[in-house]
Amino acid sequence: MSREFVQLHGILLKIIPYAENDSLLQLLTAEKGKVIIFAKKSSSNNKSNSYSQPFAYSKFELISRGHGMMVYSGSQMIEYFPELRQSPYAMAAGEYLCEVSTFVPENIDNPNEYLSLLLNSLYLLTGRKIKNIDINVIKLVFEIAFLQLSGLMPNPKECSSCGGKPEFWHFDEGFLCDNCAEKLHFSEIHKVDKNMFAAIDHIMTVNGVRRYSFTMNSDSLKSLIYLSEQYMKYRLEAELKTLNVYKSLIDRV
Ligand SMILES: [Zn+2]
Repeated sequence: MSREFVQLHGILLKIIPYAENDSLLQLLTAEKGKVIIFAKKSSSNNKSNSYSQPFAYSKFELISRGHGMMVYSGSQMIEYFPELRQSPYAMAAGEYLCEVSTFVPENIDNPNEYLSLLLNSLYLLTGRKIKNIDINVIKLVFEIAFLQLSGLMPNPKECSSCGGKPEFWHFDEGFLCDNCAEKLHFSEIHKVDKNMFAAIDHIMTVNGVRRYSFTMNSDSLKSLIYLSEQYMKYRLEAELKTLNVYKSLIDRV
């Protein structure tokens, strides 16, 4: 059987226990998006492996045999974010971003964009670049950018039905004007004010670190954080465990 050596650059999202203490590792990689690789007991238990550090971005050496699964043979750390371990909030937020990343769609042609979004967000969570940045804002930007990459964010500039001025968010229909929203059940439409639309537009159009820096009043920010979380859960059709952990920590502040 032919053996092929493969190199992938990525981050560990999840360890899935497998027979006799071997593991399956779910990675998000620049080259192939989400992949699952096999790690033997000897390598998966070795704490010196760079990938086992939380949030480590590593170069993975893999062996691929024909159509079979790729097998881990080594890794080298490129970057990691140890500061996250010093803050339970940053740690919980980082774990949430990794859980959301397990929902990166299959067969995508832009895997690098998802990985960059995750790495940039983790980097900002360290506080190295911007001191005292609001963790809630990093999480919000990540969510909206993730949904946008997945083609799930509606256009915040107009009503998706008639092109008018948007004022509401319906999770299936998109952003809607007053008239179009009126035709739908009130329990399914959510008011979005102009500050929230401006923030959504900013996140969807600005790149790099500037994407994470915007100001808005705390009531609008709170509403947008709530809607973004609800929309994420609705679109992923998942109850996100790490989101509940994060929220229980933040609520105590
Ligand atoms: Zn309309």
